[in-house]
Amino acid sequence: MDSIRIDELTWVDIKEKIENGFKSVVFGVGSTEQHGPSLPEKTDALQADNFANIIALELRNTLQAPTINVGFSGYHLHFPATISLRKETLGMIVEDYINSLAGHGFENIIIFISHGGNEEPIKNLLPKMKEKYPDKKIFYYYTQEILPAMRDIGQKYGLSFGEIGSHAGDMEASVMLYLAPELVRKDRFVRGYAKMITPRVRKKYRAEGFQTITETGVVGDQTKATAEKGLDYMESFKKVVIPYIKRQLED
Ligand SMILES: [Zn+2]
Repeated sequence: MDSIRIDELTWVDIKEKIENGFKSVVFGVGSTEQHGPSLPEKTDALQADNFANIIALELRNTLQAPTINVGFSGYHLHFPATISLRKETLGMIVEDYINSLAGHGFENIIIFISHGGNEEPIKNLLPKMKEKYPDKKIFYYYTQEILPAMRDIGQKYGLSFGEIGSHAGDMEASVMLYLAPELVRKDRFVRGYAKMITPRVRKKYRAEGFQTITETGVVGDQTKATAEKGLDYMESFKKVVIPYIKRQLED
């Protein structure tokens, strides 16, 4: 069986692949946190895993390491069964991933972050990793350049930024209908906090919890989500993410 997922391969296969030009490895970092009454807690983890897989396939000669399914989700803990790592813990896990993978000879280590809370600890870790491995490219992608793609989707479907939503809104509900419809409770779709998230609002929920801005845990509007749109979101993100990563690799 051939695979690009290292946890599905034997060390013999992996050694052979690295020797034959698989110089890059990618892994996703998601979360296990509430995504409203309709979407599963693995929403970010599933997106991270799928996107890391797409990146590996698109770049070619790239292997995928296991997705880290739990992240920093402190401000979602009000909602049952959200699991949050401390920022330091997440940083240490990612550091251990990088040290392990770097030791096996990968030249490029790419991290795909699907959840905002994970960015800070990973961003803080990278200078140390770059110093330790000056000859390697180690970087992450987290929605740096995604806004124009969001605006295009919004225009196409008549949705505002607020409705597309930064958490469990039209985007994530549509993507989940595309990726894992069996896990989605469509009958519970709601319109949540659908205004723009201003810096003031972000500061509030980060300090006091998500429940202080949205009772259901939804930021955005899920009520018009469709699987077709989910594919559309993924394709348009792909058009942004893949060139971004290729540019980083060429630099
Ligand atoms: Zn999410």
